[in-house]
Amino acid sequence: MTPQREQVLKVFIETNSEHLGAEEVYRYLISRKLNVSKATVYRTIDLLVELGFLRRLQFDEGVFRYELVDKEEKHSHFICTSCGKIYELKGELSPENVMREYLQLMSSKGYIIEEVDLKFRGLCPKCTKKKKK
Ligand SMILES: [Zn+2]
Ligand SMILES: [Zn+2]
Repeated sequence: MTPQREQVLKVFIETNSEHLGAEEVYRYLISRKLNVSKATVYRTIDLLVELGFLRRLQFDEGVFRYELVDKEEKHSHFICTSCGKIYELKGELSPENVMREYLQLMSSKGYIIEEVDLKFRGLCPKCTKKKKK
């Protein structure tokens, strides 16, 4: 691991794998007084995606966001159209959990599923509450 790769991965670990854009990773490193160039950060992130450490995500804003690849707990995303917060659907809310039968049906028909990538948009529970008031 080169120090740059380590630094970038550390940002994701320290921020609890928030869905960061490359720009935010760069600003985080700068705020930590680390001497990196923007080009290096972008290049390092691309590399980490290729190496399978980070997953590239695209939500509404037209920028890529990234998160640590968590092989243990796959999750889908819910994006609130009101507050913009990105929620992770895990555990009982994970679509993979509910779709088990569907996935089994697909594989019985000969489809090999490597990844399920679902995005949901709408109002989050907090914003729903605010609206009702
Ligand atoms: Zn919301
Ligand atoms: Zn996520």
